[in-house]
Amino acid sequence: QASAQLQSFDGTGATADGHAVPLLANVGGADSARRAAADGAEGVGLFRTEFCFLERDSEPSVEEQAAAYAGVFDAFAGKKVVVRTLDAGADKPLPFLTDSTEPNPALGVRGYRTDWSNPGVLQRQLQAIAQAAAGSSAEVWVMAPMISTVEDSEAFARMCADAGLRTPGVMIEVPSAALNSRHVLQPVQFASLGTNDLTQYAMAADRQLGSLAALNTGWQPAVLQLVKHAVDGAQLAGQRPVGVCGESAGDPAMAVVLAGLGVATLSMSARSIPAVSSVLRSITLAQAQELAEVALNARTAQQAQQQVRAGLPILD
Ligand code: PEP
Ligand code: MG
Repeated sequence: QASAQLQSFDGTGATADGHAVPLLANVGGADSARRAAADGAEGVGLFRTEFCFLERDSEPSVEEQAAAYAGVFDAFAGKKVVVRTLDAGADKPLPFLTDSTEPNPALGVRGYRTDWSNPGVLQRQLQAIAQAAAGSSAEVWVMAPMISTVEDSEAFARMCADAGLRTPGVMIEVPSAALNSRHVLQPVQFASLGTNDLTQYAMAADRQLGSLAALNTGWQPAVLQLVKHAVDGAQLAGQRPVGVCGESAGDPAMAVVLAGLGVATLSMSARSIPAVSSVLRSITLAQAQELAEVALNARTAQQAQQQVRAGLPILD
């Protein structure tokens, strides 16, 4: 049955009763964006801009950056593209932004924080994004990684306004931002949950260590409680839409839980989209909400996953 549904995949995300959950792609540049568009992604939920410049030892010019961004916008003309500003550091070092001598890079000057060590780089990137957006019909949203406080989100919203970018957002991937989302999301328009880092920081387990994989899963009830808290806070902050762009979004059973928790969009590797679409179409929103409750109340990650899968016969 699942494979029959895969063949009839029409490219949109929705539950059986028609609650839309757009399925977006994570991309790293124009090539992966074109492949994702061909695979049926409804837009881009995470454009990892640092992937365009991993080989560079000096900052790319505004023109070079604008050209790289335009390649992705062109692949999704008329569609939403969420651009993430450079997330340099830890697992993604960029020689022109990050200090390779930090003792704990995952807890160091990474993501948005590099604006403090290298002022000007973020403003120039926002200028390049605005320039590329002006020449394209894509609906460009822009978000900062590794936001931890209200001061961070306020400063980022101001910088976006100065660059003429009208839809600023933040990633929620640090537990402090998830816990304080009702305030952190007030200055911005939307949030995207980075479950990879949120899990790493909630569980104090390095995401790069295979030996800690059992800890590093979005099925951990503590991580799901953080997700719920972040989504509920986003409502209090003025009904800010919350997407998910970490690995969790591409796990079909987890996608159901996230939809049930009130997540508005799911962004994943494009090849995961057909399977996630099939499973979402096999349940109603009310069933997704029930399964989200089951997962939230589970004692262990393993039980959360098993109990949710047991409620999804399409996965048998
Ligand atoms: C995340 O942390 O979940 C995320 C989507 O970003 P990245 O994997 O690029 O850190
Ligand atoms: Mg991250």
